[in-house]
Amino acid sequence: MALIERYQKTNEVGFWEGKIPMNYVYTCGRAGEKFFREIINGKIFGTKCAQCNITYVPPRIYCEKCFERLEDKYIDVGTKGKVHTFTQCYETFDGNKKETSSIVAMVKIDGTEGGFVHWIGEVDFKDVHIGMPVQAVFKPAKSREGNILDIKYFVPSGSE
Ligand SMILES: [Zn+2]
Repeated sequence: MALIERYQKTNEVGFWEGKIPMNYVYTCGRAGEKFFREIINGKIFGTKCAQCNITYVPPRIYCEKCFERLEDKYIDVGTKGKVHTFTQCYETFDGNKKETSSIVAMVKIDGTEGGFVHWIGEVDFKDVHIGMPVQAVFKPAKSREGNILDIKYFVPSGSE
């Protein structure tokens, strides 16, 4: 086949196997730093654009709609949210089988745009549903490190 012809059968496409070793440092930026410094205190912070009436969680330094600078517009958004979507996991991140399954959900913090993926705990999978009110459970203060895992998981808050 000449190089200018298109493949008609995708199983004819060649490939090679290999590995690309990669080490990186991902900086979280000023808004991310504020977010993680407040997580240590057991709080979830966002930024609010008063013009658009949008609160971003995790916080953003600029409003995505009007480009207003939000760096000094941090607000405590509380620790309650709702399950936006969820699934059950039977493997760890590195592909090993777990002894017990876990529930992973996209949680939207109440009154905000966005949210984050985290575990749901202290509930059976069959009892979880989209829109279920949940509340963050933080690790004990002494063992917090300023990362998203300072939130142990979210639990049903019981107030729909
Ligand atoms: Zn805005």
